[in-house]
Amino acid sequence: MSATLVWLRDDLRLDDNPALAEAAALGTPLTVVYVLDEESPGIRPLGGAVKWWLHHSLARLAVALQAAGSRLVLRRGPAGQIMRELAAETSADTLLWNRRYGEPERSIDAGLKSWATTEGLSATSFQANLMFEPWTVRTGSGGPYKVFTPFWRACMAGTEPRQPLAAPDRLPAPAPTRDGALPASEPIESWALLPRTPDWSAGLAGTWVPGEAGAHHRLADFVDGPAAEYGTGRDIPGVEGTSRLSPHLRFGEISPFRIWHTLREHFATGAPADVGVFRSELGWREFCWQLLYENPDLATQNYRPEFDRFEWQTPSGAELEAWQQGRTGYPLVDAGMRQLWQTGWMHNRVRMAAASFLVKNLLADWRLGEAWFWDTLVDADAASNPANWQWVAGSGADASPYFRIFNPVTQSKKFDAAGRYLRGYIPELSALDDKAVHEPWKADGAALGYPPRIVDLAESRALALATYQRLKDG
Ligand code: FAD
Repeated sequence: MSATLVWLRDDLRLDDNPALAEAAALGTPLTVVYVLDEESPGIRPLGGAVKWWLHHSLARLAVALQAAGSRLVLRRGPAGQIMRELAAETSADTLLWNRRYGEPERSIDAGLKSWATTEGLSATSFQANLMFEPWTVRTGSGGPYKVFTPFWRACMAGTEPRQPLAAPDRLPAPAPTRDGALPASEPIESWALLPRTPDWSAGLAGTWVPGEAGAHHRLADFVDGPAAEYGTGRDIPGVEGTSRLSPHLRFGEISPFRIWHTLREHFATGAPADVGVFRSELGWREFCWQLLYENPDLATQNYRPEFDRFEWQTPSGAELEAWQQGRTGYPLVDAGMRQLWQTGWMHNRVRMAAASFLVKNLLADWRLGEAWFWDTLVDADAASNPANWQWVAGSGADASPYFRIFNPVTQSKKFDAAGRYLRGYIPELSALDDKAVHEPWKADGAALGYPPRIVDLAESRALALATYQRLKDG
């Protein structure tokens, strides 16, 4: 008798899930599994905030699968081995999954596929999490794009992303093991994904609803609200001008195809230019994955090798802590870093300013910042995090030039003129007026308890430029 095994990874959804849709169409007894793999070579251990999200996302997915007549099996261990064992346990003759794009993950999947072929099983993978798979977007000479604009232009010149698939109403009942029982599932609590002491997750729980339903609510709110003015609203950290879909995309709780077509339908007549801007942000996500696909060491190696000679300074423990805890004395950087700690997310414009401050004003190696974001962001992903850090540092593809140094004071005056974002995260500044809130050191001690500046902006900028000049001069 036939049986199917679907392996879910960063695609924790029923909607627009080609592997699950195929399993529903086949109709043979079905086992759906998620494997927590912290052992296979090259797999990057998950950060704390992402673990918190994963716990809740899996718990909600299990409920949704049950409602559709299925069941989620949780297993922990080296994924290739676990999948082979589970295929044998459930007598599966068909393995299905949606594709991943990191090198260690692809190598596990390729190993499983070749094992399945040798064993006479069928193994099929699907395109689900990227609209443009890296190997399909090529320059005229057949290589990968190194600059975003032509990359995205090439994507847009081809056929539009396919229509999303509806979630299956019912899924086939679970496949029993050889002795008639259902395959064992580990209790999610035994994975200890949630923080214990101290439990820092209250702010995350107050901000987010992990899971597929939460993702669809976010999309609906965005489409009915800020989407029409995204082009300007996305730059204002004090308002909800962006979609906040990033952690949902990170875990594949919603597919980019679903987002794309929901916008297309909503703005069927006269899509504002803002929708095009939003689409190109989705394009940046695709570009980052293409960069990781081509450069598997993106999180550890400079994309531009000349940066191997850059004279990063090791920040003192106190400086690094001040940055991490939002105590640098520069309100925009501090508000951002506190938003990150409290909610697991930071507004994109502030991410750029906070990252620029670390690598340019403190001259710290971008890998230090990347690691902190990796641990604290709920949307930390293996492609976007290192690609964006390298973009800010100047060492990356299509990078912001090194001499572009974000001035946190100018930035907050421009994008948070009334200080709404600043005051929201820095209570010490609540008594300051709209002018002083950007430069509390000029407020004659009115910013009670707010730390002094850890570095002088003009001096550190000059030092950064001189260091860069030495790199250029060789
Ligand atoms: P929206 O503005 O609503 O954009 C929609 C979607 O487009 C996002 O959800 C995201 O999937 C994608 N997107 C937007 N901007 C970018 C970008 N610059 N690069 C890649 N994708 C983008 N994004 C992550 O998803 N994971 C990360 O680990 C991450 N680390 C970053 C680190 C630094 C230093 C910087 C400067 C940016 C980083 N970003 C990262 C990109 C960006 O800040 C977030 O994607 C965005 O803020 C998420 O909020 P949103 O969903 O409201 O975005």
